[in-house]
Amino acid sequence: MEEKFGLRALSTGEMLRTAVEDETEIGEQVEKRMASGDLVPDDLIVAMIAERIEEPDCADGVILDGFPRTLPQARMFDEHLAERGMALDLVILFEADDAAMVDRISGRFSCARCGEAYHDTNRPPSREGLCDVCGGHRFRRRADDNPETVRHRLEDYHMLTEPLLPFFREKGILRSVDAMADIGRIARDMESFVAAI
Ligand SMILES: [Zn+2]
Repeated sequence: MEEKFGLRALSTGEMLRTAVEDETEIGEQVEKRMASGDLVPDDLIVAMIAERIEEPDCADGVILDGFPRTLPQARMFDEHLAERGMALDLVILFEADDAAMVDRISGRFSCARCGEAYHDTNRPPSREGLCDVCGGHRFRRRADDNPETVRHRLEDYHMLTEPLLPFFREKGILRSVDAMADIGRIARDMESFVAAI
């Protein structure tokens, strides 16, 4: 998507880490918040994104990943864009039911030697306990890929992020893809949405 449409993909998590590393003004505030165990406040996140999209590499448009995540973020960002004569063109919702998400995420594991990705039900190694690629026999799971953590993240999503949907639907810019479809299908759907802007 980046190459095909000349869009710059920005991940909020990555930007937060970079801001902290580079010790920017925003980074220092973020670090203070995180050190005291607080969530990074909405206005700080919006300020960070607003600053970043002014960079020359964003001139042809951006894809925002992981933002906005709350209704206040969406409203603030919308106002910020409007002041500059800009607006969001498209919001893509990855649709999936909770049980399927818990299964999809908590079933993930990978080869400890070569990093090949597997899944308990969707893609187990063809010989149990052995990596298809390198023959390794040690596997690892990310600590936050367990069912309980995934359910907790879903609760946050329903409470904080789901209220964004009517906001974007009213603007007529919300499209959705089936997050459980195969990756080729998802990519084709997303490209057709972007192409139609
Ligand atoms: Zn392997």
